Amino acid sequence: MSAIVDGVWEQHAGIAKSGRKIAVTVAQGDGIGPEIMRATLRVLEAAGAPLAYEEIEMGESVYKRGLTAGIPESAWESIDRTRVLLKAPITTPQGGGYKSLNVTLRKTLGLYANVRPAVSYAPFVRTHHPKMDVVIVRENEEDLYGGIEHQQTDEVVQCLKLVSRPGCERVIRYAFEYARQNQRRKVTCMTKDNIMKKTDGLFHRIFDEIGSEYPEIEKDHLIIDIGAARMADSPEIFDVVVTLNLYGDILSDIAAQVAGSVGIAPSANIGDRAAMFEAIHGSAPQIAGLGIANPSGLLLSAVMMLVHVGENRIAEQIHNAWLRTIEDGIHTADLYDAQLSRTKVGTEEFASAVIERLGAEPVQFKPVRYEQQAQLRKPGMGTVASRGTTEAAKTLVGVDVFVDWKKGGADGLAAELLQCATDALPLTMITNRGVKVWPKGHAETYCTDHWRCRFQTKENSEVNPRRVLELLERVDASGVGFIKIENLYLFDGAPGFSLGQGQ
Ligand code: NAD
Repeated sequence: MSAIVDGVWEQHAGIAKSGRKIAVTVAQGDGIGPEIMRATLRVLEAAGAPLAYEEIEMGESVYKRGLTAGIPESAWESIDRTRVLLKAPITTPQGGGYKSLNVTLRKTLGLYANVRPAVSYAPFVRTHHPKMDVVIVRENEEDLYGGIEHQQTDEVVQCLKLVSRPGCERVIRYAFEYARQNQRRKVTCMTKDNIMKKTDGLFHRIFDEIGSEYPEIEKDHLIIDIGAARMADSPEIFDVVVTLNLYGDILSDIAAQVAGSVGIAPSANIGDRAAMFEAIHGSAPQIAGLGIANPSGLLLSAVMMLVHVGENRIAEQIHNAWLRTIEDGIHTADLYDAQLSRTKVGTEEFASAVIERLGAEPVQFKPVRYEQQAQLRKPGMGTVASRGTTEAAKTLVGVDVFVDWKKGGADGLAAELLQCATDALPLTMITNRGVKVWPKGHAETYCTDHWRCRFQTKENSEVNPRRVLELLERVDASGVGFIKIENLYLFDGAPGFSLGQGQ
């Protein structure tokens, strides 16, 4: 593989073309990465995919050179140029100091929608769910994956969960457009908004708002725990699922596993300016170099990439040849089952079997038809802040002061802080790990050294920020000190903060 792009560059639908060929950036990855990438590119070449590959280095070797992000500058240049990345799995070194390359790629390139189909291939791949055909659309940039973590006291660390209106709008609109353009009938939203009323509540609310623009599509919402349980137990009830980052990460692995194997599940990461395609599995270091890895996850990701760049006919040909190979019982070790399979093959033999079947269609499975299928990214599919963010009247009504306090319980802390409180900002509540412990706490509540102390105006009247600064000076001078604060605002009169549990 080499950088074989030459000739005059042109931009076509945001994708770089050189002559007749479409330039794509390719990363071989670690572990089984190079083996499955070689097999995949062999199939693409045999099918006549008009692609010109620019190879970049990323992952373990780059980490080992001391680049903690795992990706060199030259790789960004290639992706900026081609806007399409086909990526094999990489190994994230254990231990601190290294940032996850996948998270970096998704966030830097603005790949807000992670599209993960999970399809069962019964009776040729063993599964309890022969009718499963689910597409999970996972929010890909926000939530707990911001990586904003802090140790605040000896006992307590925190991870910030950030959810934005534009972030929700983009991925939810993408999910509905995907459903509409791919003749899907239902979109299910999964959140935990019974607990996280602000963050997950926003995602759910925007789902309802945007969903109302798609009257022909059935909509429902499930709390993520029961949603995940149903995905494991009766996945055939789902069609398209849209959810937040962490839930989508877990849910899509469950879906891939119950469909038959994580080794065959592909994924696309779609943004307005770039897209990345990769298998959902990791670098499987235990079987690296043995020539037995299943290249299907990466190959089907490449099929999604071909649809993305508008090569639908070739995508269809490869996908149908792959289906035919599976139903002919030619399986790699991870799928091989003496009762269902005919021949156990290695990575390269599997690729050769797919190549032999190019032009053939499956006879047991329904052939795929990409000629009629929409591209994964079309104008308007996930336009940023499509509804615009309205600016609310924001009123400061108090402050939560977080303190590190080890000298006893809530009553002792309250006695200190009552000395600091002012007429403008009286002390109204103390919580520990979110549970109200003052006033009127319960002796049974276990308390750490991390306390949230709420100072709030009477009847939510507006307070000048200077009163907050005065209060903080008093808390500091008292010796209690503070580790962080969160201002309490009303947005158009509605509280922008949660109550304490038990308040
Ligand atoms: P893994 O997906 O690599 O392996 C899980 C199991 O599935 C193993 O038994 C493995 O042998 C098997 N397996 C996975 N892909 C297979 C294939 N194509 N063919 C046959 N068997 C396959 O997950 P892991 O062991 O948790 O992670 C290994 C490494 O991969 C870690 O360093 C992790 O950080 C990394 N990882 C990378 C990505 C990525 O780059 N997108 C994703 C997940 C994990």
